Amino acid sequence: MTLSVTDRIESQPNQSCDVELAKGPWEFDRMPGYGPGASEADAIPEPVVRPGQLPVAYQQMSEEELHERIRRAKSALGDRLVILGHFYQRDEVVQYADFVGDSFQLANAALTRPEAEAIVFCGVHFMAETADTLARDEQTVILPNLAAGCSMADMADEDSVEEAWEQLTEVYGTEPDAEGRLPVIPVTYMNSSAALKAFCGRHGGIVCTSSNAQTVLEWAFERGQRVLFFPDQHLGRNTAKAMGISVEQMPMWNPRKDLGGNSLEQLEEAKVLLWHGFCSVHKRFTTAQIEQARADHPGCKVIVHPECPMPVVDAADAAGSTDVIRKFVAASAPGDTIAIGTEINLVNRLAAEYPDRTIFCLDPVVCPCSTMYRIHPGYLAWVLDGLVEGEIRNQIVVSDEVAADAKVALERMLAAKPR
Ligand code: SF4
Repeated sequence: MTLSVTDRIESQPNQSCDVELAKGPWEFDRMPGYGPGASEADAIPEPVVRPGQLPVAYQQMSEEELHERIRRAKSALGDRLVILGHFYQRDEVVQYADFVGDSFQLANAALTRPEAEAIVFCGVHFMAETADTLARDEQTVILPNLAAGCSMADMADEDSVEEAWEQLTEVYGTEPDAEGRLPVIPVTYMNSSAALKAFCGRHGGIVCTSSNAQTVLEWAFERGQRVLFFPDQHLGRNTAKAMGISVEQMPMWNPRKDLGGNSLEQLEEAKVLLWHGFCSVHKRFTTAQIEQARADHPGCKVIVHPECPMPVVDAADAAGSTDVIRKFVAASAPGDTIAIGTEINLVNRLAAEYPDRTIFCLDPVVCPCSTMYRIHPGYLAWVLDGLVEGEIRNQIVVSDEVAADAKVALERMLAAKPR
C-alpha cells in the first residue's frame, strides 16, 4: 500500500523536511517564510505576504467533519461549482477535484465549465490568477488559502523585471536588426504573477509552460535576437541547451546587481538571459541521487522535471513536464522500475496508480512543496461552506487592464506552433 504524504511524514519523522507540515498545517501560515517543506528557506517578499485566515472553528474540526462538510457543499452546489486540483496537491484535497492537472491544463479545463459560477483552485496564487485571467467575467475564482503562493514565482517581481528591462534597453537599444528582430523578447514561465504575464504582453513577449518551452523559445528567436527568461533559470537553461545554445551564451541575471551582475561583453554575447530564480522542490534533486537509484535498482529508468538543475537533467534518461512524466510511466511495462525527480505527491499517486511497477521519488527525504501543502481540507471546507451560504471567501481578482495584457501573452503561446 502506498502511504499518503501526510502519513509518511507522520510515520517517518526522521525522513521528512519537517513533521510540522503534517502536525500544524495552519500554524505555518503565521511564519515569516513559507514554512516547513522544500521551500522553507525561501523568504516571502514583503509585498507578497498573504496571511491565511482560517476561523478557529475549522482548525478544531475533526478530519471526518471537514470531509463531510466538503462532500455536502459540493453536492449542494452541483454544477455551480468546479474544483481544480494541481498534480502536486495532497490526496486529501485532490479527491474532490473535478479536474486534476498542471496549472495550464487546469485553467483550460475550467473553460469547459462555463456554467460554473465559482472556480475553486486547489493550487497556488499564480494559478488562480491565470484561471481568473481566462475565466468569464461572471465567474469567481477562489484560492482556499491565500497564503498558498509559489516561492519561485515570487522570485521575479514586477518592479525588478521593469528595472532589468530598463537596463537592457540602455544596453541594447530598441531598434530591430536587419532581419526585423527586436533586441530582447521577454519570456515568462507560467509560474509567474499575472503582472509579469502582462509585462510580456506589453513588450512583444510570451508565456511558456514546461511542456512547450522549446516551441516558445523558437517563436521568440524568430522575433528577437535574444531572450530574457524568468523566473526559472533551470527551465530556461535546460530548454535552450537542448536547442544547441551554449551555456556561455546564457548568463544569469541577478536582479540585485547592476546589469544583473554581467559585463557589457557578456551581455553582447548573450542569447538567453536567465533570471536568478528556481523551484526549491526541484532544486533538491542531485546527480548523486540518480547514481544511488541506479546502483540500488540496476536497469531502472530515471525521469526528471526540467525545473531540476542542468546536471540532473543531463544525467537522467528523460526529462519533461508533469504530463510527460505521467505518459512516460504509462508507457512503461509491468515490472519496470522508474525513479522520478518531481514533487512527492505526484510520484506517490503514480506509484498507487501503477502497483505492478516500482515507482519512487529520487529524493529519499519526504519534502513536499510547502506552498502547495497549504491547501488543507480545512480551507477547502471553509470556502465551500461560504459559497453555500452565499459568501465569497478568498477571491482572486486580476484587474481588467492586467488581464487584457496577460491574455495577449497567453494567446501568443497558444498560437505558437512547433517547427
Ligand atoms: S513545486 Fe516549485 S514551482 Fe511548483 S508551486 Fe511549489 S515552489 Fe512553486
